[in-house]
Formats: sequence, C-alpha cells, structure tokens
Amino acid sequence: MNLANLLQRKALEHPQRPAIFSGTQPVATHEQWAQRSARVGARLRAAGLLPGERVLIFMRNHPRYLELLFGAWWAGLVVVPVNAKLHLKEVQWIAENSAARWAFVTSDIAPDPAALTGLDGVMDADSAECDAWIEEGEALPAIEERAPTDTAWLFYTSGTTGRPKGVMITHRNLLTMGLTYFNDVDAVDSGDAIAYAAPMSHGAGLYAIPHLMAGARHVVPASGGFDAAELFALGRALGPLSLFAAPTIVKRIVDEAEAAGLTPEQCGQSFKTIVYGGAPMYAADIQRALRTMGPRFVQIYGQGESPMVGTALSRAHLADAAHPRHAERIASVGVAQTPVCIRVAGPGGEPLPPGEVGEVLIQGDSVMAGYWRNSDATAAAIRSGWLWTGDMGALDADGFLTLKDRSKDLIISGGSNIYPREVEEVLLTAAGVAEVAVVGAPDPEWGEIVVAFVVPQPGAALSSKTLDAFCLDHIARFKRPKRYEIVDALPKNNYGKVLKTVLRERVAGG
Ligand code: AMP
Repeated sequence: MNLANLLQRKALEHPQRPAIFSGTQPVATHEQWAQRSARVGARLRAAGLLPGERVLIFMRNHPRYLELLFGAWWAGLVVVPVNAKLHLKEVQWIAENSAARWAFVTSDIAPDPAALTGLDGVMDADSAECDAWIEEGEALPAIEERAPTDTAWLFYTSGTTGRPKGVMITHRNLLTMGLTYFNDVDAVDSGDAIAYAAPMSHGAGLYAIPHLMAGARHVVPASGGFDAAELFALGRALGPLSLFAAPTIVKRIVDEAEAAGLTPEQCGQSFKTIVYGGAPMYAADIQRALRTMGPRFVQIYGQGESPMVGTALSRAHLADAAHPRHAERIASVGVAQTPVCIRVAGPGGEPLPPGEVGEVLIQGDSVMAGYWRNSDATAAAIRSGWLWTGDMGALDADGFLTLKDRSKDLIISGGSNIYPREVEEVLLTAAGVAEVAVVGAPDPEWGEIVVAFVVPQPGAALSSKTLDAFCLDHIARFKRPKRYEIVDALPKNNYGKVLKTVLRERVAGG
C-alpha cells in the first residue's frame, strides 16, 4: 500500500472538510489537497521521474510541504526531506548521494535555487510558477502501487564518521508509525488539529500521517518557524492544537504560559497534546510543564532509524503521581510502543537483567530497511533483526527504559543532532589549526552547546572570530561551536586517542 492512498480515501470520505491551514487561513480541503498532490505526481512523471527515484524537499515549514510530499508519493517516488538549517554545500552532498532528480525549495533558505546542481528541476515552492505548475496541471489518474518494503522517506541522519547516512524508511514503517500513535500516544478526533511547530523534515512532519488517517486538520504557523505566542493564539483561534516538539521548544511554550499567567485550563484552550522527545527532558522541566499547563504531555523516544517509535511515556504514566516509582518513571522514556520489542543488551546482543546498563535495541515494523547504498553501515546497525540504536540505557522490572548516555558522541543542541566529528573535520581544514576536539557542554537553554578545543599549528595565531567565520562558510549555522578554547595540547590516552571525557568534565565544570 502507498501512503498516498490515505489521502485519496480522506478526499473521498470528507471532500469538503478543511484539511490544511496556513496560520488561521484554510488553504486546502482534503479534496483539494488530493487533487494538487495528484497533479504534482503527474508533473514529476512528465519531467521523466520514474517510481523509486528521489525528490528532495529543502523547505521551511510551508503548507505546500504536505501537497508536495504526498504528490511525490502519489507517483511512487521517494522523498528526501532535508533539514532547512543545512548549508547549501551539505544539501548538494545529499542531493548527489541520494541521486535525487528533482528538488522543491523555498527561497528564504535557498535564495539561489540554481546553485543546486545535477538535478532535472528545482522548483521554488513560494513562486507563482510553482502555483501555476500545480494548479494548471493534469492529475495522475492512479496512485502508483507500492510494496510495503518500498522506501517512502529517505531521511539523512548525521553519521559518526562525519558523513550523513540515508535512512531508508518504507511505506510499511510509516503506516506502522501512524497506527501506533493512536494506541501509544493519543486518540485523535477528526476535529483535532496538528500544528507543525518543529521542522516538517523530521518527526514533526511524520505526524501528518496519523492525523491524516484520522481526518484531522494540519496547521502550518504563518511564521514558518517556532513562536510560542503565535501557537497560543493559533490554538485559541482554531481549537486546541497537538504538536511534537523537542524539549527546548516545550520549555519555551511553558515559559510563555508562565509569563502570560495562564492557568492549566486556559492552556487547554490552545493545546490538546504536546508530544516531546528527540533529546533528554530533565525531570524538573517536565514537572514544571505539568504544573503550569496540566496533563497534556506525552514523551516518545525513537530515532531516524525507527522514526517516532521506540518507547512512550504516556499521559497516564506522567499523571500517576501516587505511584511509588513516579520520580524514576518521569525521568525515564517510558515503555515499549505497541509494534516493537525493546531490549537492553550486552556487547553480544544478549538481554541484560533489569537495572543493568547496556545498548538499547529495537525490533519491529518501524525499523528502517537499512542505510541507502551503505551495506557496511546497515550490517553494523541491524544485527539478527535488531536495530542497535547507539543509545545506552537500563530497563526496570516494569519495562520502563531510562537512557543513561549515548554511546555515540552525539551532541543534541536545541533538539538538533550535531556529530562532533563533522565539526572537527571542518575545523581541521582551517588555516593554522593543528588539532581539534569538539564536545557538548551542558546548557540550560539549549540542552547542550558545541565547544571546540583547538590546538594551533606552531607560530599560528588563531582567534574565535576567524574560526567562526570559517565555520559559517562550511557548515550549517547551528552546528558551529558556540565557544572556542585555544589550547596547547589535547588530553590523550596511551594510544594517542583524545580523552573526550576529560574535556567534557572541563566544560561541565566551567
Ligand atoms: P534522531 O535520529 O535525529 O531522531 O535522534 C535520535 C536520538 O535522539 C536518539 O538516538 C536518542 O539519543 C535521542 N533521543 C530521542 N528521543 C529521546 C528522548 N525521549 N529522551 C532522550 N533522548 C532522546
């Protein structure tokens, strides 16, 4: 089954029901959405794209996102969603690696679409040309059939090697994810609305699927980004919103509620359910969120390789303050979601007893088909049918998973993943740099910030300013170190490996 069938069915069932909103403005009914997607599919076919070929989406959050996404699926194509914060050089790399044939962009993040090369077409979704391309086209008569194992979503995750890897997420993976939402996250009514407050290129965008299954509304804030006051107002105007957000964003929503002096009941006029995940949420923060806004939170843990599906900490778990282990539970990521098994394993994959820390493994129909054209990485990540997440954790006797550490050196800043190696590789190409080690430092606002320890070449004079300018030219802004420490040498072990633990302790202490 093709995910586009979900849209076609809703268009038949509820043709006139408003489906997509730009701010408070309805911009498409289910029927219009389906017609536009069918025309997008036909246009892409007419441009020569064959089922299974890749279409890149490099856009800020935009109402057209959903029409283009389902349009590509309508024609049996694979969507490559690209984080809007990436540098154009990084986007170009992804376009080449995925052998994409077409790209949809928005001019705010890609002011010169022609700069993306090697594609048959680059369409600016904000342009009148794009409007006409969609509105004046013929519709593709039938949805292209897809096997459950066909890739729908080729999501690029940063690799520890510094190079991103394409995660092949299939139609079955996303159908599983969508159906799981209703059992493990939240019931959805056709009168509900999902707001896209976090990037649609990531998990937030995937929550379009359960909300489409339920025939609910999809709201793209007019700002195209995150603005807490805007969300409160949107919810008051359209009815309580559900959304997915990283803990950094949840904190800002709670700050806004506190600053405006709202009661939990008043918060309920704007928000139905706030799903949080993607990075650790401190227990004190979720307690404050519950106090301020009431029982409208659910936590999920997953990763690009098993999107949105791993564990969940339900509204009921969070509310069960009388439970003797409530304090431990709210600091956990909850229990296995319905379609998966979770295991905490030792190095050989053997399950460890409750309380022991090991690597978190996931098995089930949400787990990726593998990494795109990278069988070595696939073989390392999926062993005997289990996904090795790279996260370390422990299960308790009741099946609650608590994450302890990340086995990879991933830094999570404001909900975005940053792999130190990638930043190190860039800095090592700057003039006058001999050695670099990048670590995350705890930060109350961002969760973590990037700190770079840099050893200059003999006689070279380095400054934070020139290093920062260099990073601006080579990597996405959000990956740049927020702080530089120019040092004479890096701490190393007997094998000459940099001791990142020592550096982490140094930045945590200072
Ligand atoms: P991504 O592949 O970008 O979705 O990032 C996935 C990683 O984010 C996971 O492997 C975890 O390290 C982290 N993560 C996801 N959800 C949570 C959560 N609820 N609590 C703590 N860390 C999380």
